Amino acid sequence: MKLPFRLNPVLEHLPVYQPGRPVEEVARELGLSARGVIKLASNENPLGPSPAALAAVKKAARGMNMYPDGSAFYLKRKLAARLGVTPAHLVLGNGSNDIIEFLGHALLGPGDNIVVSQYSFAVYPIVAKLFGADVITVPARDYGHDLPAMLRAVTARTKIVFVANPNNPTGTAVSAAPMRRFAAELPERVLLAMDEAYVEFQDKPVDLLPVIRAGRKPNLILLRTFSKIYGLAGLRAGYGIGHPEFIAALEKIRQPFHVNLLAQAAALAALDDAAHVKRTRRNNDAGRDFLEKALRAMNVEFVPSSANFVLARVGAGQEVFEQLQRRGVITRPMGGYQLPEWIRISIGTPAENRRCAGALRQILRGRKK
Ligand SMILES: *Cc1c(COP(=O)(O)O)cnc(C)c1O
Repeated sequence: MKLPFRLNPVLEHLPVYQPGRPVEEVARELGLSARGVIKLASNENPLGPSPAALAAVKKAARGMNMYPDGSAFYLKRKLAARLGVTPAHLVLGNGSNDIIEFLGHALLGPGDNIVVSQYSFAVYPIVAKLFGADVITVPARDYGHDLPAMLRAVTARTKIVFVANPNNPTGTAVSAAPMRRFAAELPERVLLAMDEAYVEFQDKPVDLLPVIRAGRKPNLILLRTFSKIYGLAGLRAGYGIGHPEFIAALEKIRQPFHVNLLAQAAALAALDDAAHVKRTRRNNDAGRDFLEKALRAMNVEFVPSSANFVLARVGAGQEVFEQLQRRGVITRPMGGYQLPEWIRISIGTPAENRRCAGALRQILRGRKK
C-alpha cells in the first residue's frame, strides 16, 4: 500500500546498516542448534561480559520499575575519575552510535558535509544523509586514513571529520604524530570526531585526552564504547569526551533516559573489572596472531590489525561468507564497504578461531580445484 502521507525525502535514498547476523537467525535457517553456530561478525567480546557486570545487572534488575538516573551520576563520576576529566566533559549514549547521531542533530543540515575515509564505519554516512548532509569520501591509503588528503578535502561547508582509530572495518591505526598534526591543522569550525571504539585493544594508543583536559580544543570529541572490550554490546552504552560547552549542547539533544538502568549498572561494574579487560586483551592478542598466521599459511592477503578483527581478502567475499555460514561460522561480508573480495573476521576464543581457520582452509582448497 502506498502511504497516504509524504515521508521525509531523505529516507528514499538512505542506506540501511547491515549488521552481523545473529546466531539464532542463522541456526534457524540452517536447521542447526544455536550451540553449533559461532559468530565472529560484530567484534563482540568472545569471553562474554565481565562476571562482575553480570552480577551487577542481576542486582540492579530488582529496581527496574523505576526510571534510571538520566544524568548517570555514578557512571559519569567513575569515568571522569578514570579519564582525568570532569563529569561535565562526558556525554553518555545508547551505544556510541547514539552519540554519532547527536553530532548530526547538533551540527548537520542540508548543504553541509562530513569528511570520512574510504572504508570507514557505515554509520557516519547514514547519519549524515539522515540530516540531509553530503558525504565527502577520501580515498584510503593502504586501507587506512590518508590524513593530509582528508585535510585538503575539507570545504567551507564541512562540519565534521570522522576518524576511527583503530578503523573499522580495516583494523588500521594512525600513529600519534600525524594524528596530532591533523588535529592541530583542522580548522576550528570543523568538529574532529575521533571514534575510539577499539582503543582499549591497542598497545600504544594515540592519547588525545591531554588536549581535552587543556580545554583549548572545543572542536574535538572522543567516542568510546562499552560494546567491545567491556563485552556489553547487548546493553548499549557508549560515551563521548569533549569540551564541556559542546557536551552541554549534546546533553540537550539526548532523550531523558537514553542509557538504561542495567546498562549503567553493568558499565559501572565493568570499569572496575580490570582482570576481565586484561584477559580479553590477552585472548585477542593471541587470537589475532593465530588468525594472521593461519591466513598467511593459506596465502590469503590481510590488513594487519590493531583491533579485535581481521580484514581478509578471500576472493569472492560474499560466496566465502556464505560457505563459512553453512559450516556454522558467521563472519561479515564486505560488499557493502566496496570490498567485495574481503570478509571481516572478529577474533574469537581459541576454539572459535581454530574452527574458523579450518573451515576457511577447506573452502579455499575447494575453490582452487
Ligand atoms: C562497534 C563500533 C562502535 C560502537 O558502537 P556501539 O553503538 O557503542 O555499540 C562505534 N564505532 C565503530 C567504528 C565501531 O566499530
